[in-house]
Amino acid sequence: MIYKRSSELFASARKVIPGGVNSPVRAFKAVSGDPVFIKKAEGAYIYDEDGNKLIDYINSWGPLILGHAHKPVVDAVIERAKDGTSFGTPTELETKIAELAVKMVPNIDKIRMVNSGTEATMSAVRLARGYTGKEKIIKFSGCYHGHSDSFLIQAGSGAMTFGSPNSPGVTQGTAKDTLLAKFNDLDNVKQVIEANKGEIACMIIEPVPGNMGCIPPKNGFLNGLRELCNSHDILLVFDEVMSGFRLAQGGVQERMGVKADIVCFGKVIGGGLPVGAFAARDEIMDYLAPVGPVYQAGTLSGNPLAMAAGLAMLTELYENPGIFESIDKKTKYLHEGMEKVLKENNVPHTINRVGSMISVHFGDEPVVDFESSATSASSGKFNKFFHGMLENGIYIAPSAFETWFISEALSYEDLDKTIEVVGKVSKDL
Ligand SMILES: *Cc1c(COP(=O)(O)O)cnc(C)c1O
Repeated sequence: MIYKRSSELFASARKVIPGGVNSPVRAFKAVSGDPVFIKKAEGAYIYDEDGNKLIDYINSWGPLILGHAHKPVVDAVIERAKDGTSFGTPTELETKIAELAVKMVPNIDKIRMVNSGTEATMSAVRLARGYTGKEKIIKFSGCYHGHSDSFLIQAGSGAMTFGSPNSPGVTQGTAKDTLLAKFNDLDNVKQVIEANKGEIACMIIEPVPGNMGCIPPKNGFLNGLRELCNSHDILLVFDEVMSGFRLAQGGVQERMGVKADIVCFGKVIGGGLPVGAFAARDEIMDYLAPVGPVYQAGTLSGNPLAMAAGLAMLTELYENPGIFESIDKKTKYLHEGMEKVLKENNVPHTINRVGSMISVHFGDEPVVDFESSATSASSGKFNKFFHGMLENGIYIAPSAFETWFISEALSYEDLDKTIEVVGKVSKDL
């Protein structure tokens, strides 16, 4: 395939945008090479600036669960835009999407809209701190919660109880309030709680992580966290920015039957426009301004275009609940197909999947947490795999730590083509 125009556009972009991108993962840094510039997209396909047609497994990193340019969503945005793009006042649309979200997601009474997943998690943690009057939070290594300071903490040496900043610009003061725990390791979480008794406001977790590949929570892990939170007066915050409205209408809470105290959304809830949200039961949400003392705001929060897109998307999912079963089936089909060809070609691999979240790891060991995900990534095979896939018209995320985002727009023909390419590419791995 030819990427001449994409490379030229990237060179121009780098002169005026840091690294040529407005979000680092887009830059292909982990896999090397120049990123592909996209011109348009429809359904399961994206078309780049050089005229290549690619089957898309990124789908804007998750929002486009029904594929690109889904007509009801696009039409809703166009119609809404004709009447003005923003007012900075309440609109009926905001109540409509809130009513629908509260109907679809178990265990929430009220929801507030923001503009990104980052804002949602950041606000949720502030709310948890305000509500409990405690300052520390637990985060799990390998979980991503957006780029606000408290979350840019990763396990360093011996950083079991005190996090250390892993991005310059995050202060020690902020880092010390973020405690790190290990995903899928209840004993470790207990130790962290014991060492910080009475000081922990909340633990925030991707209940099905998708940012170290897809990691299924072990049986009893999420329930164990719920019990620990109950007995230590800690709020359980589910970051369902990726899993919300994807793994079920009600996300992981519904799919796995575990109740969180605060839930964060993003991605699917905006239908491809910049939307995030956080939600909880009344007593917690009423702690927010203007009713309660915890401040949180946004000039463009609840923006009419974004709400029109989000409402159209959620309505599609609500009225067609069969979508979740259908997309799970497609992902299972892809899983089994890839498994078969990777085995045939003797490529050491682990495929993890929960519903329509799936990731391929090139190592023999089970991938159950950040360490095991990093170990398999270090095999170096992903880079070659990625470029082989791209060369053959399959667009997956340019990082060994990303989940593939399956869309309902993918046909079984697309999946067969993908499996065939995985077979072809894995011959040289
Ligand atoms: C994408 C993501 C975020 C961040 O959302 P942005 O809209 O990129 O700020 C937070 N948490 C999880 C689990 C995500 O996948």
